[in-house]
Amino acid sequence: MTVRTRIAPSPTGDPHVGTAYMALFNWAFARQHDGQFVLRIEDTDQARSTPESEQAIFTVLRWLGLDWDEGPIVGGPHGPYRQSERQALYLEHIEKLLAQGDAFHCFCSKQRLDEVRAEQQEAKQTTRYDGHCLGLSADEVAKRLAAGEPSVVRMRVPETGACTFKDRLRGEVTIPYSQIDMQVLLKADGMPTYHFAVVVDDHLMGITHILRGEEWLNSVPKHQLLYQYFDWPMPELVHLPLLRNTDQSKLSKRKNPTSVTYYRDQGYLPEALLNYLGLMGWSMPDEEELFTLQQMVQAFDIDRISTSGPIFDQDKLRWMNGQYLRALDAEAYAEKVQEWLLNKDRLRDLIPLVQERAERLSDLLPLVDYLLGARRALKPEDFAHKKLEREQVVKVIHHTLALFDRKRSWQRDDLYESIKALAEQCDLKLREFLFPLFIAISGREVSLPLFDSLIFLGPDLSRGRLRDALEVLAISGKERKRLDKALDQLQLSD
Ligand code: GLU
Repeated sequence: MTVRTRIAPSPTGDPHVGTAYMALFNWAFARQHDGQFVLRIEDTDQARSTPESEQAIFTVLRWLGLDWDEGPIVGGPHGPYRQSERQALYLEHIEKLLAQGDAFHCFCSKQRLDEVRAEQQEAKQTTRYDGHCLGLSADEVAKRLAAGEPSVVRMRVPETGACTFKDRLRGEVTIPYSQIDMQVLLKADGMPTYHFAVVVDDHLMGITHILRGEEWLNSVPKHQLLYQYFDWPMPELVHLPLLRNTDQSKLSKRKNPTSVTYYRDQGYLPEALLNYLGLMGWSMPDEEELFTLQQMVQAFDIDRISTSGPIFDQDKLRWMNGQYLRALDAEAYAEKVQEWLLNKDRLRDLIPLVQERAERLSDLLPLVDYLLGARRALKPEDFAHKKLEREQVVKVIHHTLALFDRKRSWQRDDLYESIKALAEQCDLKLREFLFPLFIAISGREVSLPLFDSLIFLGPDLSRGRLRDALEVLAISGKERKRLDKALDQLQLSD
């Protein structure tokens, strides 16, 4: 059997370190077995998927050196590799399930579903679909469909019994069917849900091993039922532990930079980031911490993955990156700097910001130092302003951080409009509102235009600087709570 693994990221937002982590383990396992690694884009959520986000996934995987054997760009015999282009396949398969009686049309309105859910919550029961449309006769279904009544397709789930499946790391897992919802497989817009598409695609793409995040463990009963309905063999399952913040919570952009682009732009080396991700839940047999991708492939052993949540620790990653940088000879170091800083893409974004402001090339660096490197450390006095009290400064930064946390895209005009609206709601002139942000972002009162700086730095770094500014201003837990509450009264755009 040829080992075939895959990652199936959704192209929403920035490319996440979690995606790089999954890619690394799937890639290493496939390479170790001379198998194939497939990239599939899960873009059935049309409202949230963007081409920029998809492009960013390709860019960071290439930067990391995790090449895919089949997928967008490179093609392959099981394409298309974007779910939005595979609709005909899903429809064909849904017809089969409907004909077998393993799936059914459901016409329930949102209002009815909400009522059912509320009743179940009240009775402290598992919230799930109550099977209302299961009993509709074939004639009635045909009539309602012909009349154009909106409907979804749901899967049938046994009323009694339990599902037992095997996860390679956890052994046998049993989940009673009473806890499993009659999952929607096809939405009213004709698009499949994740649960349906993932099963159809993994089968048609010949995936033999699914290595993915443990958040999907509880979905396996739904998937296993679908494999049974289709009479398909189930791939082997390996649910990897989720990356965590230092406080053990699930790694989130509110607490840590999570975008791979951030690490690249901050001058982390791809080999150091990969090495660090390789230590997440796994270690070399000899516990050696520094290893190359090649060494990882040779020594990789799925059964040595630990299920306890690995901490994604910035300090450790920085230390590791330092080890890699120090190990380079001068020539290789120079090449790295050139790749990172002096590459045309980075400069292309930077030049328009400085061209009008510099008379000599040597004027450039002082203008952009806070964009390319860390900004200087701040003191509370840096935020002193003749019209703004400390409380207002804290409020501006706190509210802007909340706004940034909500942003799904990072565009100059949109950021400008949202901040302007926020300033108005805070009863502050835009100029005054922007002052603390200038300081927090650039460390200076006079710098390049704030919104250009935000765009160049990107969301993770911008958020990180605001978080740091709040620390410098010694925001207290009480103050934070009060501001969070005040925020609920405001309208923030996302
Ligand atoms: N789109 C899902 C995710 O990004 C894929 C999960 C899976 O690998 O099955 O988490």
